[in-house]
Amino acid sequence: MSQLLLNLDRLRHNIRFLSRYCREHHLGITGIIKDPCADQKMISQMLDLGFENIGISRVPDGPRAKPVFPRRPIYIALPSIHQLPAIVQCFGTSFNSELAVIQKLNQTAIAMNCPHSILLMVDTGDLREGVMPDQVLDTVRKIHQIKPRGIKFAGIGTNLGCCAGTVPDEYNLGIMAHLADQIESKLDIKVNTVSVGGSVLLKWMQHKRLPGRINNIRLGESVFLGTIPTINQVHPNLDTRVVTFRSDILEIKEKRVTPPQLCGKDALGCQPRFPRRGLRKRAILNFGICDTYPSGLAPLIPGMEIVSVNSNYTLADITDCPHRFKVGDFVDFTMNYQAFLQSFISPFTRIRYQEETDSTPVL
Ligand SMILES: *Cc1c(COP(=O)(O)O)cnc(C)c1O
Repeated sequence: MSQLLLNLDRLRHNIRFLSRYCREHHLGITGIIKDPCADQKMISQMLDLGFENIGISRVPDGPRAKPVFPRRPIYIALPSIHQLPAIVQCFGTSFNSELAVIQKLNQTAIAMNCPHSILLMVDTGDLREGVMPDQVLDTVRKIHQIKPRGIKFAGIGTNLGCCAGTVPDEYNLGIMAHLADQIESKLDIKVNTVSVGGSVLLKWMQHKRLPGRINNIRLGESVFLGTIPTINQVHPNLDTRVVTFRSDILEIKEKRVTPPQLCGKDALGCQPRFPRRGLRKRAILNFGICDTYPSGLAPLIPGMEIVSVNSNYTLADITDCPHRFKVGDFVDFTMNYQAFLQSFISPFTRIRYQEETDSTPVL
């Protein structure tokens, strides 16, 4: 079984830094972990060290699902109209953009006698979820006209840098601030939360302040990887080595690498490439696309090159590695966010916490 090593000291460093930094910017943080089955330890680190709440993007289901949250977290995705009882049961707040779903959520919350808040998503230019800005006032008015009302209108939210690669600017951030003011002044409805995400906002905050109305930021990648997506930068104050992917070697053989006479596609439908030919030393590692997103991994071992990936193996060329490997040796990788998320949610990757520097000999 491959492992996702999670260094708690480094994770705590990032959580602490972000909590302090965002507090200075008058922002509460929603820590995005996406996985409803993440275990207690990680959640309590976030909540104990200053994050306001936790954001999840999947509904818990099946035997792995167990309630580990001290209070119901936030569902940061649009709920399916077919899953609303589970949404109300598991989450205190959900992100919404469709009146039909909001009306049914309201009926569900009343039927279950369970409080539930909704945050209305606004599309400020990233072309992903959300009502268009000119429809927001009308939609909020309609939400408030729902009778009897079981749900609570918590505020508005937007997402940047996820679909169209839209980076924050005065215009899209200004829309959020303006809408919050308009909802309060024109409709006399309180807007408690104005939420923005994700980590791409940190780049903006390095040089400029967010409008005062924005009071919540949703952060995922920066917490675990120390990086800022969309612009592909490392955040100077964050630790980039919180997580490490660890695999082990199942087979080492010298193979004569040469293109076959008749060459089709590999197991994943990709065209095999043969950049290095002749007698090569190849290692088979114990993971594939069932366990992580292998293309998002970078080996920490000099000279190692990933040459092929399938559902349960990853093949590496180790001819040029100075180290002499044997079967069973560990091979560690850094990961991008896709690889982190896939290994985090895969039931075949074991999450191992490291309280201090790992003593396993790493090559
Ligand atoms: C995943 C997600 C985030 C976190 O974004 P990062 O860039 O990883 O910080 C924020 N908001 C929503 C709605 C998301 O789905």
